[in-house]
Amino acid sequence: MVAVRVRAPGSQVPPHIHAEVGGSLRDVPQDAPLSDVIAAIESRYDPAWAEPWDAVGLVCGDPDQPVERVMFAVDPVAAVVDEAVDWGADLLVVHHPLLLRPVSSVAATTPKGRLVHRLITAGVALYTAHTNADVADPGVSDALAHAVGLTGPLHPLAPAADEPRRGLGRIGSLSRPLSLREFAAQAVARLPATAAGIRVAGDPDRTIHTVAVSGGAGDSLLTAARAAAVDVFLTADLRHHPASEFAEYDGPALIDAGHWATEWPWLADAERLVAGALSVRTRVSTLVTDAWTMSEGAK
Ligand SMILES: [Zn+2]
Repeated sequence: MVAVRVRAPGSQVPPHIHAEVGGSLRDVPQDAPLSDVIAAIESRYDPAWAEPWDAVGLVCGDPDQPVERVMFAVDPVAAVVDEAVDWGADLLVVHHPLLLRPVSSVAATTPKGRLVHRLITAGVALYTAHTNADVADPGVSDALAHAVGLTGPLHPLAPAADEPRRGLGRIGSLSRPLSLREFAAQAVARLPATAAGIRVAGDPDRTIHTVAVSGGAGDSLLTAARAAAVDVFLTADLRHHPASEFAEYDGPALIDAGHWATEWPWLADAERLVAGALSVRTRVSTLVTDAWTMSEGAK
């Protein structure tokens, strides 16, 4: 039996996933200066918390321009920009930087240059909140933790040196123990579906009570997850060797739930932050922009 799941780029998050967290249009026909929207975002996601290698903040746009419509998405890719332009967005807030590495040109001769042109021509500002949103309190992993059913107080898996309430990843617990198989099924049901699905390493019947999560690539937190002695670590982008060696310690089980899917729940938090601070219309993109668009041969 060969299992094939195909989710084409640009397919949508099923309604039952995003209905409970947003994707809302707020019918408040007012606007605010872009600088005010940025101030609201940075009141929680301070750019000073971003990693030194990161590139966060305003990518294009005039701080004085009026903003009536704000859209939120994980990836600044062409399909997302199309959605923003079609909806009439004045600001697109994304998690991943469009221009992480320095460039010497934004000519419309490359995919990224074309996006910059398209955004400016359509009057859409682009703003990035990346590792500063990861470490915020609440941040990207808080949204992920809530999405997969963790309750109770959440603590950073790798606390920030200057503020232990902030940091990478979160540790929490389930309100009632589940088997690894059941917890994985719960994660599948409560995260947006992608073509790649989720991957699990560990005894399916193992009892899961404490859980560590980290949205996006979590390789760097494997040691912290083992030290935390949780029952499972749910993250994304895990590679064979680190995962295989991790399993040899008989430590936490592992779940790789996909990069985009583990960060998407944060968008609703960011949307609520802006919509609660300003009279602007907001929308969470439900386009599935995970890099992998097909999986085949799973058994
Ligand atoms: Zn990411």
